[in-house]
Amino acid sequence: MSTINTPCDLALDAVKALLPYQPGKPIDELERELGLTNIVKLASNENPLGPSLLVKQAIEKSIDEVSLYPDGNGFALKQALANKHGITSEMITLGNGSNDVLDIIARVFLNEGREAIFSEYAFVVYAIATQAVNATARVAKAKPLGGDDAYGHDLATMAELLTDKTAVIFIANPNNPTGTWLEPAELETFIASVSKHIVVVLDEAYCEYLQPETAFDSMQWLAHFPNLIITRTFSKAYGLAGLRVGYAVSQPAVADLLNRIRQPFNVNSIALAAAEAALSDQAYIEQSRELNQQGLQQLADGFDRLGLAYIPSVGNFICVEVGGNSADVYQGLLKQGVIVRPVAAYNMPRHLRVSVGLAEQNIALLEALETVLQGV
Ligand SMILES: *Cc1c(COP(=O)(O)O)cnc(C)c1O
Repeated sequence: MSTINTPCDLALDAVKALLPYQPGKPIDELERELGLTNIVKLASNENPLGPSLLVKQAIEKSIDEVSLYPDGNGFALKQALANKHGITSEMITLGNGSNDVLDIIARVFLNEGREAIFSEYAFVVYAIATQAVNATARVAKAKPLGGDDAYGHDLATMAELLTDKTAVIFIANPNNPTGTWLEPAELETFIASVSKHIVVVLDEAYCEYLQPETAFDSMQWLAHFPNLIITRTFSKAYGLAGLRVGYAVSQPAVADLLNRIRQPFNVNSIALAAAEAALSDQAYIEQSRELNQQGLQQLADGFDRLGLAYIPSVGNFICVEVGGNSADVYQGLLKQGVIVRPVAAYNMPRHLRVSVGLAEQNIALLEALETVLQGV
């Protein structure tokens, strides 16, 4: 028997075993540490354009209301989302970022003895949310190296992990950090094959970045699949990462359960107003998508020039293979004032993830990378 002396001794074992989420390094922190200015941060898949003008105006207008509690039901934002997606408001669960809804999903459907399935190299929050509620993670091998779809989710291996304890399956499409993409037809066949009591979470944090020929409206699936939950966010293409707004869409009965444990005021009033304004600015989304497409190409061309392999990406980020000393390359880039994201925690120790920036930021990254690689 171990002795119990402090509250930490009583903490749940699953929580004690958690590795903390590692966020991208903040610009201020690097400024403090190295006394640098003009830092380029390409570490957290944020929109390099900054918020849209309509969002800034909406935020200004909402300032006078901060002494009041926000609308706990998010009526106006849900209405706008319902109109946009051709769904009803009762199908929506708002979150303090989509991270919040992923966590709510885990708390509603998982606990000790139940299993969640997700892919190797999938977004790390699935593992954290699963472990935090003492459930068991079943991690499916990704598509093998060598193929066009290396590192991508392998739906066949995910299906092999189904048991009578499976309660939730998490799928990110596109996936972060790999930028890989599952064809909608393949995904639909998979969802149709899963027992209807198992929740399938389709995390589409990056769907706004898909090119028109690839983009697919998964909301139409909700009518056929009572066990489907689609999650979206305002943090990436909509440019609101700092405000924390995301949402889940599901059939009303599922949304009702999610909303029961949602904290009543989990999305603040400024964020609600900003998200509603962001939804109305389709031109900003299109500009963001085009800028991203050019930036992906620019980075891919630059990596080709440097002789570096990368994982083809449809997101607003790309994983480049810098070799076994990726931690040194990461540190070297910091000294050059460029923050990227190590992905060793994803079991990708040879890669770094680079978010797509403005053209001049992408150039700064490529130049810094060239300098650093000459030195290591
Ligand atoms: C960034 C990201 C999210 C969510 O971020 P929030 O800021 O919490 O909305 C969700 N899923 C994936 C795959 C992401 O990369």
